[in-house]
Amino acid sequence: MSPDVHGGRAKCLQRLIRLDMPVPTTVALSFDAVLRCAKGQLPDMKAILAPFGPQPLLSVRPSSQDPDWGGPGAILNIGMNDACLPLLADRIGQTEAETLYLRFVQTYAVSVARLDPEAFDFPHLGPADALRAARDSYEAEADEPFPQDVTTQLTEVLRSMARAWDGTTARLLREAKGAPGDAGLGLVVQELALSVGKGESGTGLIHFINEDTGVPQVRGRYRSQSQQRDARASEGALYLTKDPRGPALEDIAPDIFAQLIRFGDLARTRLREEMQIEFTIENNTLHILDAVRVQRSSRALVQVAVALAQDGVIPREEAVMRVPPSSLSELLHRQVDPTAARDVIVRGIAASPGAATGRIVLSANEAQASAARGESCVLVRRETTPEDIRGMHAAQAVLTIRGGMTSHAAVIGRGLGVPCVVGASDLMIDRKGGWIEAPGGRRFNVGDTITVDGTTGAVLAGAPDMLEAALDDAFQTLLSWADAVRDIGVRANADTPKDAQTAKNFMAEGIGLCRTEHMFFDGDRIGVMREMIFAGTADDRRAVLDRLLPMQRDDFEALFSIMEGRPVCIRLFDMPLHEFLPYDKSGQRDLAEQLDLPLSTVVERMQGLSEYNPMLGMRGVRQGIAIPEIYEMQARAIFEATARAWGRGMPVQPEIMIPLISAVREVELIKLRLDKIAAEVRGATGVDFKFKLGVMVETPRAALRAGDIAQFTDFLSFGTNDLTQMTYGLSRDDAGRFMSAYVKQGVYPEDPFHSLDLDGVGELLAIGAMRGRQTRSDVVLSICGEHGGTRPAIAFCRAQGFDYVSCSPFRVPAARLSAAQLTL
Ligand code: PEP
Ligand code: MG
Repeated sequence: MSPDVHGGRAKCLQRLIRLDMPVPTTVALSFDAVLRCAKGQLPDMKAILAPFGPQPLLSVRPSSQDPDWGGPGAILNIGMNDACLPLLADRIGQTEAETLYLRFVQTYAVSVARLDPEAFDFPHLGPADALRAARDSYEAEADEPFPQDVTTQLTEVLRSMARAWDGTTARLLREAKGAPGDAGLGLVVQELALSVGKGESGTGLIHFINEDTGVPQVRGRYRSQSQQRDARASEGALYLTKDPRGPALEDIAPDIFAQLIRFGDLARTRLREEMQIEFTIENNTLHILDAVRVQRSSRALVQVAVALAQDGVIPREEAVMRVPPSSLSELLHRQVDPTAARDVIVRGIAASPGAATGRIVLSANEAQASAARGESCVLVRRETTPEDIRGMHAAQAVLTIRGGMTSHAAVIGRGLGVPCVVGASDLMIDRKGGWIEAPGGRRFNVGDTITVDGTTGAVLAGAPDMLEAALDDAFQTLLSWADAVRDIGVRANADTPKDAQTAKNFMAEGIGLCRTEHMFFDGDRIGVMREMIFAGTADDRRAVLDRLLPMQRDDFEALFSIMEGRPVCIRLFDMPLHEFLPYDKSGQRDLAEQLDLPLSTVVERMQGLSEYNPMLGMRGVRQGIAIPEIYEMQARAIFEATARAWGRGMPVQPEIMIPLISAVREVELIKLRLDKIAAEVRGATGVDFKFKLGVMVETPRAALRAGDIAQFTDFLSFGTNDLTQMTYGLSRDDAGRFMSAYVKQGVYPEDPFHSLDLDGVGELLAIGAMRGRQTRSDVVLSICGEHGGTRPAIAFCRAQGFDYVSCSPFRVPAARLSAAQLTL
C-alpha cells in the first residue's frame, strides 16, 4: 500500500497494524477506485464487505495523499437499520442504540443525500421520537424510505465522498496547500469499534505536542460512553493526564493510558512524525482507530521538524523538506504595533491572522491589476465567492461585510495566509460609486489606504506602524540547515531602510533591487518628485535635483549601513509618469497649491506630459537619456554615500542598475556618465571606491541583444514583470480585467504575472542568459520580478545557472527554503 495509491491514512493504518497496534478490520479503496466511483462506476461492493461479516457496522474516512489536503468528513455507523436496532439495543442499551441510529440518519441525510440540515434537527425530542421524525423527514424530503441495506448505504456514502472531493471549493482549498490539480482521494472502510455500552467504554483523541507551539505536551480528550465525533467537543470530556480540575483517563484507566503513551512514542520514532491517535475503549479494551499527523500551526510545523531532526529521528535534510515554503508566510506576519496610534474605522471577525496595509479595491480584477503594478491593495467585498480567489491571492488583505469564521473569505484567507477580517457588518459598500462607508459616515474611496488587522479584527484608516514578524530559534535553525544545502543566492527587493531591515532580519544575502522611485511614494516626499516632473526649465529642475540629492544620499547611506557590507543593487529611477501624477481633480488642486501655480497651468502641463501608453513611454532609461541630470544626481548621491560608508570603515561596492534598456547604446551612454561622476567623487573625496554596473533585462529586445549589452555590464537582472508585460503585449495595469476569463477558459494556465511563463518569457530568459554569458562568462545573472520568490521560478533559474533570485523581503525565508528543497 502506498500513499500515492491509497492515500496517507490508509498507508498509516497499515503501518499501525504492522507495529502491532490493535486496529479494527480495515479495507482501503485506491485513488483510482474512488475516481471511478465519482464517475458512477462502482467498486465491487461484495469484495469490500466480505471481511466484515454479516450485519457489520462501519465507518468511512478520507485518505488523501497528504493529510493536509483535507477531504470529506468521516461518516460513521453505516449499516445501522431497523433489523440491527434491537440487536444493538441488547448490547449497548435501547437509548444508546437509538441515538446511534439517529445520528446515522442525520449524517446520511445531510452529507450523502444532501438534504436540508434543518429538516433533521429535533432538539426537543428524545432519541426514539427523534429517530422516527428523522426517518419520516427523510422519506418526505428524499421521496423514498431511508435505505436499509448496508450495500446501498455504503455505496451511496462512497459515491458522495468521492464527489465531494471533486467540488470547486475542496479543490481550491487543497490547491492552496500545494496539492496538484489531479490529487487523488482514497477511502478507508473500517469496522466500527463500539464506544458505548458495558464496562469502561468511550472514545478519545491523544497527541503529544502542543499544536500551536510544537513543544512536547500530552493533549487531547476522552469521553466515556460516546461516539468518536463527540470526542471533539470539549463539554463533558475527561482530561487525559492527572489534573486537579477533574477526573482524567489516567485515573480511571491507568493501564490503557500507559498503552497510549507507549503507542505515541512508537508512532513518533517508527512513523517519524507527531501523530494524533484516535482511539476507542470498548468494555476496557483499547482499539486504535486511526492515526493522523497532528494538525499544527506553521510555528509548530517548524518546531517539530527541527526537534525530530535534533532527536535523530529524521535527517536534517528531511526536516528541511518537511516544511512547505508557503506555510512560512503565517510565521512572517506583521502585526500592528500595539503602541502605535490607531484610528479604528470598523471592527469585524478576526478571520486570518496578521496585519496588512493597502489601497482599497472593490473587485478581484482591480486587486489583480494592483498586484501587477506592484501596488499593495486591500480587497473589500460584501462577501467573497470562488470567483474572487485570484483577487484574494493578489491582495495583501481581505475585508468582507458578511460572513463568519467559516465563510468563504475566512477559509480561503487562512488557506492562502492572507490577513482577513470578515463580517464587518457596520460597513457599507457602494461598488458603483467606488467607496465604502464606516460608522459615523466616514467614507473611504477606492485607492485610499487602510489597514486590516486579521489578528484582532480591527480595520484601521491609513498605515499605522507595524511590528515586524519575529523568527524563533527553530525557524532560524531550519533555515540555517536550508542555507547549508542551497546552491542559488537569495536577495531581497527592498526600497526603503525599513524594507532593508526586514530583508536583513530574514537573512537575505543582499538587496537585489532597490526601486529608487519608490523612495518617493511616501506622502511627504512625493511632492518633491512632482516638482521635478513639473519643472518648466532646466534651472528649475536643477534646483529640485539639488534638494533631492541629499535625500537620496542619506537613503543610500542608510541602506549601506543596514546591510553591513552585503551587496546593495540600486536601480536608477524608473518612473512611469502616471504613477507619480495626481489622477483626479482634487489631487490636481493639491498639486497646484503645493507648486503655487494656477490650477489651469497644472492641468495644461499634465496634458503635455500625458502619454497614450505610459508603460511604453518616457520611463526608465529613456528619462535618463533625455534628461541626463536626473541620473547624474542619483549617481552622485550613490557615490557620495559610498565614500561616506568608506569613511565609516565600511568599504562598500555599490551595484547600479539601469532600467528598461532596449539598445546597447543606452548602456554605453549611461556608463560614460556614471564613470565620469564616479571619477569626480573619487577626486573630491579621495576614496578609491569601485562600483558594478548592470542592466535590467525587461524588454524582449534587451534579452535578445544581451550579448552586446554584456560588453558594458557586470550583471544582468531579469525584470520579469515588465518582460512578461512586453512579451505578451499584456498591460500590467489592465490584465486583471480579463485574466479570470482567460485562465478559466484555459487560454493561459495561470496569470503570467503570478506564475512565471516558463515557455515564452522563460525562453527569453534562457536566450538572454546564454548570450550574455557568451560575451562575458562571469556576468552575474539574476531575476528580480515578482516571480523571483516562487518555487517554479527558482527551479528555472537554478537550471539556467543564475547566481541569485531577488524577491520581496517577506518571501525571502520561503525562497531560501524552496531553493534548498530544490537541491535535495
Ligand atoms: C520588473 O519589471 O520585473 C521589475 C522588477 O521592475 P518594476 O516592477 O519596478 O517595473
Ligand atoms: Mg520593470
